[in-house]
Amino acid sequence: MTSSQPLRVAVIGAGPAGLGALLALRKVEGVDVQVYEQAQKLREIGAGISVQNNGWNVLEKLNVPPIPPESYFRNTDRKRNEHWNGRNGAYIKAQRDPPGISDERRHIRTPRTRLQEALLKAAPQERIHLKKRLTDVDFLSVGGVKLTFEDGFTTIADLVVGADGIRSLVRRRAFPEHAISYTGRVAYRAAFPMSLVEPIPDLPRKTIFWHGQDGRWIYTTPLGDGLFEITASTLEPKELGEVVSWGQPAEVEALRKHFTEFHPVVGAIIDAVPPQTLGQFAAFSGPQLESIVRYGSVALLGDASHPFAGAFGAGASFALEDAWTLAQAVSYALRNGLPVAEALRLFDETRSPYCSRLYDELRSMAAATEKGKHLPWDERVMDRIEERWGDFEWIFSYDVEAAWNETLNHAETLNQQRQAGSAEDKQLPALL
Ligand SMILES: Cc1cc2nc3c(=O)[nH]c(=O)nc-3n(C[C@H](O)[C@H](O)[C@H](O)COP(=O)(O)OP(=O)(O)OC[C@H]3O[C@@H](n4cnc5c(N)ncnc54)[C@H](O)[C@@H]3O)c2cc1C
Repeated sequence: MTSSQPLRVAVIGAGPAGLGALLALRKVEGVDVQVYEQAQKLREIGAGISVQNNGWNVLEKLNVPPIPPESYFRNTDRKRNEHWNGRNGAYIKAQRDPPGISDERRHIRTPRTRLQEALLKAAPQERIHLKKRLTDVDFLSVGGVKLTFEDGFTTIADLVVGADGIRSLVRRRAFPEHAISYTGRVAYRAAFPMSLVEPIPDLPRKTIFWHGQDGRWIYTTPLGDGLFEITASTLEPKELGEVVSWGQPAEVEALRKHFTEFHPVVGAIIDAVPPQTLGQFAAFSGPQLESIVRYGSVALLGDASHPFAGAFGAGASFALEDAWTLAQAVSYALRNGLPVAEALRLFDETRSPYCSRLYDELRSMAAATEKGKHLPWDERVMDRIEERWGDFEWIFSYDVEAAWNETLNHAETLNQQRQAGSAEDKQLPALL
């Protein structure tokens, strides 16, 4: 970019990806960043969220204030969680924090609102425009992208950042050939006062996945702010999955029917769920996009760019990593007088191979779930958990800055080679 006009960046969506993009891009000189969010008010639904070492890494870079200790739950050992046989409560294995990290970098579970609040505290509010639902995206032949919103407002941006979640309209316009579909799973989620489960004898005061034979599980954990959380992953027929919209209220009975064979503690926890706190979330996912940028003017972040339905419990951290990386790439291009398309290429070069690795991991997890279908409950649960639920250390130890530096070094080496090549070309006539 050589123009003295700032680069106009429109971010669609104010979830973790959009707020992360705002925090990272507002620091880049020569960028005018605005966020457009459809909600009337920023509020989070869906109970708890995990923040792990890779998430802390990027939250620190974005200068996000800490989450108060009373607002999160952290296991006292170095386990992120434990996996138990859902029927008899037998311990199978634990997933651990990466070795060598400090205590402050360990896994926490916190209400989603707490992460959102922390991001919002660091964000310039005047750049977040609420009640702005994007309804159309036009890629202009003269350059730039025209954005139209439900209330009739229009704006033109040089760069559109699609941070509009798994059902992203920006993705649908830029990649019309891509589609997401129902995974066959519905998640039931609730957060409610811890005092409601405290009387349950043998209630585990730690983070537990209770597993069933056929891939269903229920996750129970203290949450911080005096709350307790459940998330249950269930198998539901296509007819139900396709009509259940995101975050719709659910009946406790609809949840209970999936866990009748489970341990009595699970039954007692489900009995304690106040009906008005339970929501259901149909899980959709889509294949990996070949690239997460298009037309030199669109970048996708977060669930819009890797629609894989909450896998790994780290989607918010992936979204923040995407946002930080995009800002580094834009900053690099602006400082070096390069077009924004080059920034997007570098962003894609850093994040797409990482996404490929996540998709590969998901494929092997799916294969492990399918395995041993003929085995009885206990053996099958044991077999599947051992294989499917690794520590994923490479995910939680991921260093976003090191990954970006690698891309940068590669780009600069190529650049030097190109310059050396063109200097030699200039000498050619004399040699011939
Ligand atoms: C069951 C489940 C459990 C999960 N557990 C965890 C966990 O433990 N830890 C974790 O890190 N992640 C978890 N995730 C994943 C995490 O919720 C997402 O990955 C994360 O919220 C993605 O952030 P995002 O900003 O990309 O999208 P979103 O959070 O979906 O935000 C998108 C935003 O865009 C707005 N928007 C959408 N369309 C438009 C439009 N047309 N115009 C304007 N605005 C628009 C929406 O209102 C929304 O505010 C879980 C997900 C599921 C389904």
